[in-house]
Amino acid sequence: MSLTEIFAEPLKTCNFDSKQQKILAMPAMSWWSTLARAAGRGVEGVASRTIGHGTAATPSARTAWPTTQGPTVLLPLRSHLVTRSASSRSPSVTVPKIVFLGPPGVGKGTYAKRIAKWLGVPHVAVGDLIRNEVKAGTPLGKEVENTVSSGGLVSDDVVLGLLKGFLEESGEASGSASATQVLHGKTIDASGGYILDGFPRTAKQAEMLSEFQNVNLVLNLYLREDVLIEKCLGRRICPECNGNYNVADIYRPAENGKPEIVMPPLSVPEGCEGKVVTRKDDTEEVVLNRLEIYRRESEPLEAYYRERGLLVDFEITGGIDHTLPVLSPTVIRELRQ
Ligand SMILES: [Zn+2]
Repeated sequence: MSLTEIFAEPLKTCNFDSKQQKILAMPAMSWWSTLARAAGRGVEGVASRTIGHGTAATPSARTAWPTTQGPTVLLPLRSHLVTRSASSRSPSVTVPKIVFLGPPGVGKGTYAKRIAKWLGVPHVAVGDLIRNEVKAGTPLGKEVENTVSSGGLVSDDVVLGLLKGFLEESGEASGSASATQVLHGKTIDASGGYILDGFPRTAKQAEMLSEFQNVNLVLNLYLREDVLIEKCLGRRICPECNGNYNVADIYRPAENGKPEIVMPPLSVPEGCEGKVVTRKDDTEEVVLNRLEIYRRESEPLEAYYRERGLLVDFEITGGIDHTLPVLSPTVIRELRQ
C-alpha cells in the first residue's frame, strides 16, 4: 500500500463528524498528500521488500523525503527498517508487533487503524476476528455463537486460539486463506507485523499472548480523566445514517506541568442536525463505571508491559489532526530502540 492510498482515504473511521473531517483535511492532508505523491512509489518498493517477499532492495526509495511542508515527522516506518536490514543483511527485520491500549472513549480504534494503514500492517481488532468467525460459520465460530447466545463469555483460551491461528497462519504460502485470514472481504497477512486492538485486556491474557508472539511495542493512549468523561458524554449518533459525532467542546489551559488540551466541538452535519441522540450507554454513571472497570483490568496489564520495557505512554491532547503527526514518529522512535 502506498502513502497515497493511505492518506487518500477519508477519515471515515474516526469518531468525528464529516464536517470536521473536512476541516481536518485542509491543513493536515495537504502536506500529507504532497508527501505521499513524492514518496508513494518508494514506499511500495520498500514495503514489499522489507517483509520478506524477497524483492530486490530499492535504496534510492528511502532517501530525501520532502520536508518543506508541515511537520517532518511522518517518515514511513519501513524506510527506517529497510535502512537497517539492508546494511546488516540481517534476517531479523524489526517487524512491528504493536498492541494499542487505551480506555473507552480515547479513540484507540481510530488511532490503531490509522497507524496500521500508515505502517502497511493489518489492524487486528480481536472483536472483528471473533465476529468474522461467527459469520463464516466455522466450528470455532459456532462454538463462540453458542457460548454467547447462552449468556456466557468467550474464554481467553478461545480468543487466544483464534488469534494464534490468525497470526501464525498469516503469510504461510497458501492459495486458500482460512476464514480468519479474510477480514472485511480482504485477505489479511500479518506476517509483516500487525497492530492488535482490543487484546490483551488483562495481564493474564498478555502472559498467554507472550507464549507465541513477541510484541515489541505497547502504546498506552491516555487522556486526562475529566477530559475523557467530557468527551464520552459528548458522543452523539444519528439514528438515520448511523453517523458518529462528538459535540464536546473541550479546552484546558496548561497548568502544573500538564499540557494544554484543545478539542474543538465537532459539529453535526446539516443532514443530521436535530436528529442526533446520545447513546443510551453514554450516561455519566455508565461512563464512570466503564472507566472503573477498565482501570481495574488495565493497571496490572500496564504494569506487565512496563516491567518488560515495552510500554510507552502517550497522552492525547488534541484532535486527530494534532495527534497523528506526533503519534506516528513516536511509533517509529520506539520501534527502533
Ligand atoms: Zn444522519
